[in-house]
Order: sequence, then C-alpha cells, then structure tokens
Amino acid sequence: MGGKRKKRTKIIKPKPKLPKTFECPRCGRIAISIEIKEGIAKIKCGNCGLYTEIEVPPVYDEANAYGKFIDLYLDGKLDIKESNNENQEEDNNESSELHTST
Ligand SMILES: [Zn+2]
Repeated sequence: MGGKRKKRTKIIKPKPKLPKTFECPRCGRIAISIEIKEGIAKIKCGNCGLYTEIEVPPVYDEANAYGKFIDLYLDGKLDIKESNNENQEEDNNESSELHTST
C-alpha cells in the first residue's frame, strides 16, 4: 500500500474577536478598546482619541488591564498620548465661497 496520507482539512477558524469596549474616564463614552500584546496593553478611546500603553502581567486580560489603566489614570500617572484621529469623520466640505463671479 502506498503511503497515502489522509489529508486533514485544516479548518482555521478566525476567532471572532469581540471588541471589548470600556468606558473612557476622560470622555465618558464606552469607546475604550484594549489590545494586549507581549505584556503591553494598548488602550485607545475611539471617541476622544485618548491613547496610552501600560505594562501588564501576562495573566492580565482586557478587563484587568482596564482596571489598572483606570487606577493609573485617576492617579494621574498615566502617560496619555493622543492618537491621531483616523476616524472617518464625516467631513462636510463647507465651501463658503460658492459664489463664482463672472
Ligand atoms: Zn474618550
């Protein structure tokens, strides 16, 4: 018998990452998203553009990181960066000079 390898169909399930959002201590909106990578939690507010990174233990999940973030924020120990707004803002092109004089 030839070594016919049974092909195992790999089903790669893309994990439906539920975007966990938390309340922003600055603007009060539930717009904080947290991404933890290699011990660094990247915290970003989709509303006001608050952005910061904090170190978290590997066991931390987003909720833990958020708790630490809030503590640091309230203590004023946080190094807040502003994320450049990459939000797709509806920019109404208000051209006030529509009057074309001929
Ligand atoms: Zn905010």
